[in-house]
Amino acid sequence: MFDPVRREPRALHHKTAPSYNAPMPPRPRSPAASPPKPTSPGERLGLRSDWDYALHLPLHYIDETRITPIADLREARSALVQARVTQSEVAGSSRRQLRVQVADASGTLELRFFHFYPNWSRQYAPGKLLRILGEPRAGLFGMEMVHPACRVAAPDAPLPERLTPVYPAGAGIGQAWLRKAIAAARARLDMREWLPAELLRRLHLPDMAGTLDLLHAPPPGTPLASLEDRSHPAWQRVKFDELLAQQLAQQQARAKRTGLRAWPLVRRAGPDRLETRLLAALPFALTPDQQACAAEIAADLAQDRPMHRLLQGDVGSGKTVVAALAAAQAVDAGFQCALMAPTDILATQHLRKLADWLQPLGVRVAWLSGAQTKRERDAALKLAASGEAQLVVGTHAVIQDKVRFTRLGLAIVDEQHRFGVAQRLSLRAKGMDRGGDEVREPHLLMMSATPIPRTLAMAVFGDLDVSTIAHLPPGRSPVRTRVFAADKRDAVVQRVRELVAAGRQVYWVCPLVEDVAPTVAAMPAQRESGAPARGRTPRRNEMLELRAAEATFAELQAVLGEDAAQVGLLHGRLAAARKAQVMADFAAGRLRLLVATTVIEVGVDVPAATLMVIEHAERFGLSQLHQLRGRVGRGTDAAECLLLFTPPLSAMARERLQALRDSADGFVLAQKDLELRGPGELLGQRQSGLQALRHADLQTDAALLESAREAALWLLRHDPEAARQHLHRWLGGRLDWLAA
Ligand code: ADP
Ligand code: MG
Repeated sequence: MFDPVRREPRALHHKTAPSYNAPMPPRPRSPAASPPKPTSPGERLGLRSDWDYALHLPLHYIDETRITPIADLREARSALVQARVTQSEVAGSSRRQLRVQVADASGTLELRFFHFYPNWSRQYAPGKLLRILGEPRAGLFGMEMVHPACRVAAPDAPLPERLTPVYPAGAGIGQAWLRKAIAAARARLDMREWLPAELLRRLHLPDMAGTLDLLHAPPPGTPLASLEDRSHPAWQRVKFDELLAQQLAQQQARAKRTGLRAWPLVRRAGPDRLETRLLAALPFALTPDQQACAAEIAADLAQDRPMHRLLQGDVGSGKTVVAALAAAQAVDAGFQCALMAPTDILATQHLRKLADWLQPLGVRVAWLSGAQTKRERDAALKLAASGEAQLVVGTHAVIQDKVRFTRLGLAIVDEQHRFGVAQRLSLRAKGMDRGGDEVREPHLLMMSATPIPRTLAMAVFGDLDVSTIAHLPPGRSPVRTRVFAADKRDAVVQRVRELVAAGRQVYWVCPLVEDVAPTVAAMPAQRESGAPARGRTPRRNEMLELRAAEATFAELQAVLGEDAAQVGLLHGRLAAARKAQVMADFAAGRLRLLVATTVIEVGVDVPAATLMVIEHAERFGLSQLHQLRGRVGRGTDAAECLLLFTPPLSAMARERLQALRDSADGFVLAQKDLELRGPGELLGQRQSGLQALRHADLQTDAALLESAREAALWLLRHDPEAARQHLHRWLGGRLDWLAA
């Protein structure tokens, strides 16, 4: 029986043999010892409805359906043994253990318990017949089991007829409790099939009742490997259903969106149109890809349905100008446009660029950042609220409550994966125009330099149109990438010195500090999020990164001698104004060598920089390295990227660095990154959509995803009731994230 206050011995039993009930001594329950009733254990696992329980599927199985003779035991293969105790003793003084020797007709086995209740030695007294379930390992004196689950057995007690499931559990949640709760939930469910038989036949998928029977209680002889690697048809059915639910939800979100209204941003005709004037003023012509993307966006904007489009293109592909054209269309149609970027540096850069392009054409631009003074801010807020500012550029500050627009027609989000769903939603809400009797939403343009592989885009952004800039503007020579072990660092420093002396510009990227690992990709965004840089307690690894950067800065200044004044330092703890100053100095060529932490990761555009050195490159993710490298090679001069690593390299790090050396194609690298790291990290932790996938794996189930997408469309058209039921089963209350 489940007992939340049970202590260690129980937990250990579960580790080695989670399915078996070891005999436990009865313990008096003092009221003080039992904690206040916790939330239901199921809830702690995220299980609410009966369907949640039914879909809580085993990780693996234990075969208790047959007894294995001791002589046939194999190391590390869980097995059930029936044997008699021959000897039992408590040994050791400092670390006491209970050692029980058992024997059957074929051999002897030693059981060892490091945690045990005193009366166990009585229960396991010589002569007792035990059923023992555990993982054998080779001990000093033959086979042994550490902390097996045991129970005293009648010689002819029946064995279970099905394999025993082992469920994902959590602290204090026992297998016995889960098995009971899941069985009870399944018994309550109506298991009539709801998906059309024809669909299942076509996809060679079993029905759901059979699927769940098989997965929760496989009969002996079921090929366990195919259950455990999830290739079994029953698993295919579960994954298909999960993906189907997700696709249905996305279709639903799309349908809902088509019901929403936006102001059509109608383009004026004629040569004095803002877009035309902008194009004429640019120092370059748009590439065909840029033209195509701009046209797709322009057409969407002219509709009275809100656009919901992702503009994706590799670093340096020229997304900003496409965004500027969209902004021009909004302004020309008499609306406001807001542009939000995840970091101060990036937002400042957009401001500079867009102001350069649009202000001469008479567009009023306002700037909103968490780091500006109250006076600046109030002035900007006023400009936005009065409608005087036609373009408002900023960081997260743009979505703060106080910010009001008169007529927000278009919202642009750069590096959209750095923002959470909630943030995107609130930007859209800014534009809601409740003046008349209907609600109008702004059009939404999202930009990303992290090219998202197609399967992933489909799974996560099913409800999104995508425009892609596939080719870089002409005249870019690929960045020559080389990989060096850290013992070549001195030579690299010399190279930097020569280049700086020759008047070239160089980035030196300081390492990430290792223990930030799981959220590396998300961190700089949070750090730079527009919260004032002062007065915040820095994270420990942030401080370590800072110290590393400062040390490198000092070192390079010393090496550069008379050029020392041309070395700049940029890191996340600098105040925004200081950061902007350093960036401006570097952009203007007053600084030649920029020592930086990864604050420069996204979007920085200094075309004259031709060398990038990345220290401890092995600590960075592939996409992140690609982004960093994208800071050089933006001009026409040949550029170089030197990746320094500190041995030993893990196999994965080696693959990353090799991939980067061998490819400059962001899509190829993103695909590789997906293979190496999995989708969660690629998209950033806050891309909550992925958390909704419990069973399917986008790396292995791409084909199922395609089928699910087709099936979703078919089902919505031909059997909307089945679609509704299906969604309800799978997602229940978890539909929110799909709305953004
Ligand atoms: P990203 O897509 O990474 O945001 P940017 O918009 O910053 O790229 O563009 C990178 C650089 O390329 C900028 O200096 C920009 O002015 C320049 N650029 C953009 N489009 C073209 C083009 N069609 N021809 C030449 N240069 C271009
Ligand atoms: Mg950009």
